[in-house]
Amino acid sequence: MHIVEIPMEKRVTQDRFSALLDAAVDGVFVINSSGEIEVANQAVERLLGYEQQEMLGRNIKYFMPSPYRENHDQYLADHMRTEETKIIGIGREVEAQHKDGMIIQIYLSVGRYDDGEEVKFVGIMRDLSELKKSEAELQSAESEIHELVNRLAQVSRIGVMGEMAASIAHEINQPLTAISTYAQAATRLMQNDPSQAEQVEKTLEKINAQALRAGDIIKGLRSWIRDQDTERKSCDCNQLITEVVDIARMEAHNSDVLLKMELDTTELMVMCDPVQIQQVILNLIKNSIDAVDEFFTNKIDERRVVTIQSKRLEKERIEVSVSDLGPGIPADKSEELFTPFFTTKENEMGMGLSICQTIIRSHGGELAYENNPDAGVRFCFSLPTAV
Ligand code: ADP
Repeated sequence: MHIVEIPMEKRVTQDRFSALLDAAVDGVFVINSSGEIEVANQAVERLLGYEQQEMLGRNIKYFMPSPYRENHDQYLADHMRTEETKIIGIGREVEAQHKDGMIIQIYLSVGRYDDGEEVKFVGIMRDLSELKKSEAELQSAESEIHELVNRLAQVSRIGVMGEMAASIAHEINQPLTAISTYAQAATRLMQNDPSQAEQVEKTLEKINAQALRAGDIIKGLRSWIRDQDTERKSCDCNQLITEVVDIARMEAHNSDVLLKMELDTTELMVMCDPVQIQQVILNLIKNSIDAVDEFFTNKIDERRVVTIQSKRLEKERIEVSVSDLGPGIPADKSEELFTPFFTTKENEMGMGLSICQTIIRSHGGELAYENNPDAGVRFCFSLPTAV
């Protein structure tokens, strides 16, 4: 701490005052009515990067960036004349310029006093850079969450598909009931009077029409999924997986299942509709979580793990797989697995794998599975690499 022109007799008091100022965390300085710095503590030195000797006697404006630097003399002169103030007793956020040229954000409070000879101003400056940094970090965390919520909304379209499947199931119920009723009627007609062949034929035609209607509804569902805002673009496969795993983590955590990623260490660029592919991965992960959660009754069993892998295949393809150590798929279920409405769960629709297969086929691939040699199952599909 250095204070200019200290009379000898005041030295002891002054030293105590200096020690006190230097102990302050905030920068404290005193300027005279022309703006020249008379006192500056060590915190000012740290904040602005100047030695105290370099600051003392210099005008405070040189520590401000433009346009404040150019305007400060005038501002001070106006204040001395009118006593109007924009800062004294109020305090506000201002900018200062570090010795290395960097602009720093500070909170400045200013007080005015008369030392008997002239008016002086004492300023207290607080470094806001840490606060600004945390504010920026908070903001970026907020926008990340926002982004994640948006992605979740997109990816959970598969949930919307589930709901749609429910209403389709309801619609299909009608033609199916009609088929059954007409078939019973035809059987009765044949039994009661075999000569009524014409009548039976008409009834069979009706059965046929209703069966075709049911088929059309299913076809409609498949093409709706295929045509949905399909876009093909070059995407980073590992990033797609990482984002989906982030989304699935909450559910995995609630079910005490560990999600493990084994991603290829090279960059894997694929051509795909990212939202659709994320729906597929999410569905496979959820299926595996359900499977291990039901299979291992002990919540701390270390086999409660789902592994998501990516790797480069030959012929310019990238493979994504989801595997678990659960019950696997019984051989007699392999036929039905990818058909709509096949489910072994009480509250599910059984549409997931069927929709996933449609999506993967529309990407020129095939969703396949194999039971692992020791335990569980591994679902996998491949996508073309993006050039
Ligand atoms: P949902 O999940 O609605 O039942 P899916 O089409 O996704 O429909 O799955 C159909 C069925 O396939 C499931 O009900 C389950 O019996 C079986 N399945 C899917 N994934 C696995 C898995 N990882 N392990 C064991 N069985 C599975």
